[in-house]
Amino acid sequence: MENVKGKVVAITGASSGIGEAIAKHLASMGARVVLGARRTAKLETISNVIKANGGEAVYTKLDVTVPESLRAFVDFSLECYGTLDVFVNNAGLMPLSMINNYKIKEWHQMIDVNIKGVLHGIAAALPVFEEKDSGQFVNISSVGDRWVGPTSTVYSATKFAVRAISDGLRQEVSRNIRVALIAPGATESELPNTISDPELKKMAIETFRKETISGLAIAKAVAFAIAQPEDVDVNELVVRPTAQKNL
Ligand code: NDP
Repeated sequence: MENVKGKVVAITGASSGIGEAIAKHLASMGARVVLGARRTAKLETISNVIKANGGEAVYTKLDVTVPESLRAFVDFSLECYGTLDVFVNNAGLMPLSMINNYKIKEWHQMIDVNIKGVLHGIAAALPVFEEKDSGQFVNISSVGDRWVGPTSTVYSATKFAVRAISDGLRQEVSRNIRVALIAPGATESELPNTISDPELKKMAIETFRKETISGLAIAKAVAFAIAQPEDVDVNELVVRPTAQKNL
């Protein structure tokens, strides 16, 4: 695909699941990828796999809840590769629960990672994009950015926010800066591990997560958005399993 090769792409939450798949797929297309997450041992393994397959990758520790950590992540991309072309806001967690279980700490975690983390990513990368008057954000939301049901109230609220932030950002930035929102349905990853209630986790795995698509399916959607000519802004893509009909 055109317009991916050589681009420097920074990816938050690249240590597993969708972020790992995005890193591997884009690197296989010739992008130079910068991996960030808290589990650096996993990042090291993934970047070694990318390099063993002939790709280019670097990694660093990142906590998206801390604005300075994201600024350091962007600086690291610039130090390693001299530029930044695409910033993928992917890190997220999904500790589903009923509101009347009052898992306030988990609500805060979701707001801190899923919403504030995305804003911190934008705050870190946008000055670089504005300086060179080009660049692209790819924000990973969820089908929960347009759907809400029991137990997904706070998670969906965070993803509705990511959708709103993406569309507002798209309108505010210069015509040469692109903003894509990718909304995955049930995708193979470690995400269910963030559900603290064992019964609910079991239910999620046995019902709406019974049939999942691979992270590669989402990575291909990301690649599609990046690969378009610079005057084409792919703004929203929803990618879900064919089996996932009701959410
Ligand atoms: P995973 O749990 O496999 O990956 C989540 C990633 O986020 C990990 O790499 C984790 O890395 C990272 N992360 C979590 N907290 C932080 C933090 N504070 N700072 C930096 N990184 C962090 O799940 P997915 O791959 O599924 O999730 C990726 C995105 O996709 C999320 O935004 C999720 O909401 C979204 N999504 C996933 C769907 C699915 O079915 N899988 C469906 C819809 C949306 P580490 O722990 O090493 O820091």
